[in-house]
Amino acid sequence: MYENPTTERLAAMKTVAYAHFSVVGTWAYRREPCNVCGYYWQEIVPPLLVQWEPSTHVIGDFSWDGPFGDKFVVKNHVSDALNAMQFECGFLPVEYVEPERKRNTVPFPYEGPHLLWGQCSAIVDLDMEASGVELLSSCSACGDVRYTFRKDGITIRNRKWNGQKMFRISTNGPALTFVPEDGRRMIEEAGFSNIAFSEAGEIVN
Ligand SMILES: [Zn+2]
Repeated sequence: MYENPTTERLAAMKTVAYAHFSVVGTWAYRREPCNVCGYYWQEIVPPLLVQWEPSTHVIGDFSWDGPFGDKFVVKNHVSDALNAMQFECGFLPVEYVEPERKRNTVPFPYEGPHLLWGQCSAIVDLDMEASGVELLSSCSACGDVRYTFRKDGITIRNRKWNGQKMFRISTNGPALTFVPEDGRRMIEEAGFSNIAFSEAGEIVN
């Protein structure tokens, strides 16, 4: 267990000057929007379209979509290291969109370090009951299902976790990437800038 949740450290880190961005695409539509529930059936596909936001021009080893974002891009040495450590993460191309506001923003056209969009490929089911996750809605027309979103208070059964060093939670949809203790330690020991962790829950028998 994390003795000392790092939420404060996370907040402190985000006040340190690293550039953050907005994701402005690329949106793809897997099917027509549902005319019963209104779900758009859209997803983000590569290339990730990054629009740097007013923040700073200093680019961290990790960059995020906003001060508390969950989508990330990384420098080459980070993708190389995560690949070498066998994290369940794919690295996809990034393109840059001209910022709307130029002050305190990474210069455009972009001439900074090469960046790749990190997308976690592993998905793990949590223990819905122990995590307080309920089915919120299910559309009989398009099949879209919604569950309680959880970023903390998560319980995962050991048998549902195959030792992945990085994973997403099935009921959360594509948002948020989690790491177990091992993964956190490996990333922290690598000393990358602009990444910190907060406790999300536990993996139990
Ligand atoms: Zn629907």
